[in-house]
Amino acid sequence: MNPPPSPQPILLLTPGPTMLHPRAAAALSWPMVGHMDPEMFAFNDRVARDLRTLYGAADEDFTALLSGTGSLGMESGLANLLEPGDRALVLSNGVFGERMGEMAARLGAEVSVLRAPLGEPIDPEAVRRAARAQPPKLIAVVHGETSTGVLNPVPEIAAVAREVGALLSVDAVTTVGMLPFKFAEWGVDYAYTGSQKCLSAPPGLAPVAYSARALQVVAARRTPVSTWYSDVSGMQGYWCADGGARRYHHTVPVQLHWATGEAIRAALEEGIAARAARAKALEDAVLAALGTVGFRAFVPARWRLPTVLAVTLPEALDDARLRAALRERFRIAVTGGLGETAGRIWRLGLMGENARPEYYARLMHALEVLLGARGLVARFEALLSVAG
Ligand SMILES: *Cc1c(COP(=O)(O)O)cnc(C)c1O
Repeated sequence: MNPPPSPQPILLLTPGPTMLHPRAAAALSWPMVGHMDPEMFAFNDRVARDLRTLYGAADEDFTALLSGTGSLGMESGLANLLEPGDRALVLSNGVFGERMGEMAARLGAEVSVLRAPLGEPIDPEAVRRAARAQPPKLIAVVHGETSTGVLNPVPEIAAVAREVGALLSVDAVTTVGMLPFKFAEWGVDYAYTGSQKCLSAPPGLAPVAYSARALQVVAARRTPVSTWYSDVSGMQGYWCADGGARRYHHTVPVQLHWATGEAIRAALEEGIAARAARAKALEDAVLAALGTVGFRAFVPARWRLPTVLAVTLPEALDDARLRAALRERFRIAVTGGLGETAGRIWRLGLMGENARPEYYARLMHALEVLLGARGLVARFEALLSVAG
């Protein structure tokens, strides 16, 4: 027998990937064109402009889509901005902070990692002390740490970077497109996200932004960027950022460009303030409703990321069994903890299309049945109408 042609749909309440935006889904079946065709270039020009708006970047900053996931966005920025022997100060309070440190070390940088406990943000004063003691060429920080649901104070950290003359790389994977992001105003030099997170496009592209200052630093390198594919100068040629003729770099994934470009458009048309409010109102209602059946917030309100809600499970609950039942009986996917928090927390995604009350009403219904928690859906809906 042949395998089924397509899996049964599943409701992804995960912190990425997210449910597809309908406009992104529709754009996946737009016509095939060549990567050097005028239709592709016209579309990419619009994407570059829209990305400048989304990031809050200045006209002279460079924005583009990298062919690869968010991790490529992370790695290629570090590959361009760091040379062997350069000092990098990596800030880490979770899995993605650790990933940045490992990448920077593999690139031959002299890395110091400044850590905060899991579930707590990075302290800008500690960053100031570390950066003054040993001035780094680059500071790298995760804006919203997906593994714990903590929002790091990027504007304050950016101020420290400026004081010590360091470049600042910001992982904006759980923030840009859903929460305000002020690339130019804060003084960020490099930022990236993944198409499947706050934008609700399919995975496979990393929308990035380089400041004009960062590009000057890359142009003045003593050594070539260690991998050909990641060298931003190749991207500048293809995206025509230097005003010259458009140059072939690699065959871009055409359909992913369509889908991600449409998802960016949809985000800008809805407005970032409206999207942030949508995530926050839903996060508050989900947390309060789950609170009535024994879940607790993992992160205090003042540090809480509105796009990834981490909740501690009630003692008596069997994490693996409950999530398996959600998947098998209700076709709902929920993500558990990572590393130290495995088995103890859930991480509920509120990025992009995931921040929809009707999706979380389905989770409440499933929990009402599985936990015998009568009235959970009604409580959730009452909480939503207060929040909304
Ligand atoms: C998901 C994520 C990444 C990595 O993105 P991939 O698309 O999985 O490569 C990096 N940083 C953060 C904060 C993320 O949430």
